[in-house]
Amino acid sequence: MSSTRSHDPVHLAQALIRCRSVTPEEGGALTWLASQLAPVGFTCHRLTMSEPGTPDVQNLYARLGSGSPHLCFAGHTDVVPAGDEAAWTRPPFGAEIAGGALYGRGAADMKGGVACFLAAALDHLADGGLKRGSLSFLITGDEESVAINGTPKLLAWLKARGETLDACLVGEPASAEAVGDQIKIGRRGYVNARLVVHGNQGHSAYGERAENPIPKLARIIDRLSTTPLDNGTEHFQPSSLQATIVSVPNAATNVIPGSAQANFNIRYNDLHTRPGIEAWVREHCEIAAKEVSARFSLSFEGTGNVFLTKPGPLVDTMRAAIQGVTGRAPALTTTGGTSDARFIKDFCPVVEVGLRNATAHQVDEHVALADLATLTQIYRCFIERYFAA
Ligand SMILES: [Zn+2]
Repeated sequence: MSSTRSHDPVHLAQALIRCRSVTPEEGGALTWLASQLAPVGFTCHRLTMSEPGTPDVQNLYARLGSGSPHLCFAGHTDVVPAGDEAAWTRPPFGAEIAGGALYGRGAADMKGGVACFLAAALDHLADGGLKRGSLSFLITGDEESVAINGTPKLLAWLKARGETLDACLVGEPASAEAVGDQIKIGRRGYVNARLVVHGNQGHSAYGERAENPIPKLARIIDRLSTTPLDNGTEHFQPSSLQATIVSVPNAATNVIPGSAQANFNIRYNDLHTRPGIEAWVREHCEIAAKEVSARFSLSFEGTGNVFLTKPGPLVDTMRAAIQGVTGRAPALTTTGGTSDARFIKDFCPVVEVGLRNATAHQVDEHVALADLATLTQIYRCFIERYFAA
């Protein structure tokens, strides 16, 4: 690998952090990114996507080259709100450097990662250019919110134009203890369930004339929470169902309420499908409800299907890049929440490698300057190996 390193990811990350691109605001971030890519030959498409009931969102698709293989870097420049700015020790959009770290909203999630890939790509191009294939940036301004006017619509737009992707790297902060300690090769699916147990309201002194839904709900929660969905698979941890909200619309201590509700968040692995999960939850609700003669209604919401990029050439290329730079073998994992990779997996193999996620979304979000340097090297090495293969 060449040692040309003319583009400093720290400066690039600072420029991005100084853009106030809190979802759905573009904040100048995509304009700035396009201004870096256009001069080196990328064709930049600024795409504003709309959907009734949601704010318009600006996105950027920039591609260099027209042939295959086509390597796409996917990410986002929108950030979550700073929250209480007074609680930050450094201004959230100031991009200040202190103690060997760069501070600001998005430093970890994920303007830092975008800056690293940009630096790596610019260095690669400066060092001989793209000798074959295509390199692209698929950058959305709608990842941290509802993700309706971002990646899914960009992918549909690409498909309509007849463009295909051969491999995708998502630059979310996917590392844990050290940059490159893991490659995310899939994610669990998730769904939320809402369970309402119906009773009959009444005076608590005359319980026999009412039907209290609370103990019945408790019995169902107990069954759902103590029945394992599975024991995990080769690449996934066991599926999990967590009760997240229990609520009873009641303010009086001498009234038996008419209904009681619980919400559950379910993260499921590759042994399940969304319909299968819904059927499982319903079946166990019915079994427990029968024991206590409970009447209930059940509904589901949320989307996010389980996916897995099976270990193969793309994973091997990334693994070799990480090992070459850090000297360590990365773990292949499927832990954590969802990302836009859940949409991209329908188009091409996708891996996620990025910064550490320790301070993402927190007050005083920051990234070590050394981490930015390491990730840029990993990305650079990955680009070279990908196009050399
Ligand atoms: Zn993110």
